[in-house]
Amino acid sequence: MAPLLSVNNLVVEFPTRRGILRAIDNVSFEIARGETLGVVGESGAGKSLTGRAVIGLLQRPGRIASGEVWLDGTRIDQMPAREMRKIRGRRIGMIFQDPLTSLNPLYTVRRQLVETILTHTNATVREAEQKSVRLLDAVGIPAAETRLDSFPHQFSGGMRQRVVIALALSADPDLIIADEPTTALDVSVQAQVLDVLKTLGEERGTAVLLITHDMGVIAEATDRVMVMYAGRRIEMGPSADVIHAPKHPYTVGLMGAIPNPDAEADRLTQIPGAMPSLKAIPPGCAFHPRCERRFTPCDCTVPAPQPEGGSSVACHLYGPAEAAA
Ligand code: SF4
Repeated sequence: MAPLLSVNNLVVEFPTRRGILRAIDNVSFEIARGETLGVVGESGAGKSLTGRAVIGLLQRPGRIASGEVWLDGTRIDQMPAREMRKIRGRRIGMIFQDPLTSLNPLYTVRRQLVETILTHTNATVREAEQKSVRLLDAVGIPAAETRLDSFPHQFSGGMRQRVVIALALSADPDLIIADEPTTALDVSVQAQVLDVLKTLGEERGTAVLLITHDMGVIAEATDRVMVMYAGRRIEMGPSADVIHAPKHPYTVGLMGAIPNPDAEADRLTQIPGAMPSLKAIPPGCAFHPRCERRFTPCDCTVPAPQPEGGSSVACHLYGPAEAAA
């Protein structure tokens, strides 16, 4: 079956007075209906920019310099802004880190849900109200009917994020883009919100692009994962494979930085160094200054993604020897 979302060779650039900065460098991925794809990497890896490019919300002067974004057989990266606004409300729902940025503090949840449903569907007011109750119920808000008349500040952080998920679902979108949806929440409610997101795919067939810096979130809620570094896709594969048998040295480092309750506390490792700034992306493999396994071609040749088991890895340690020449 054709993927719901296809991103092909996406390049995002920021023109500056000193030259053009390349923030996303040739990134390709697909998401099937009902599938959750995680995008993971440290801050500055290009995860959020990738999500913003897909939904046409790049902040100027950022621009898609080349590549294509297809949603269900329609190319959307060149759509006029007005058309794209419709796509964002109707076909793609969005969830950001801070639920308060998505909710109007002056309106009840009923008003916000009903208005969104009326804007994007042909429902009557009565149908929109009934659907609002069903949506709050579906995201696990108890006593949905009475909570409809609450204002956002009357919900806890976790419940507010569930309201945002309900809002994002109100037009029955095909795709949800969730950018760090649980980062602002207490650890105890993170798992519940991730659970709601996970069941979306299973029960509604919604595809989810889940952006996070947290491998724990990837393990909890995704089917496949794309690891990003300095704007490039460096590893992609089924989440279980990437988590239990990471291949790229950066992914290995990310996994080593996750606390493991079964291991001694001093086993926790950090990746030395920091993500390079856009102005100073190292030549060759952008990770080479931080990589303990670097060898001759690493500082001059950009490694291309190579199939490796069920995954794809962009590292000179993998693939044909010629790639390293
Ligand atoms: Fe390390 Fe070289 Fe692989 Fe980059 S290409 S991750 S520097 S071994």
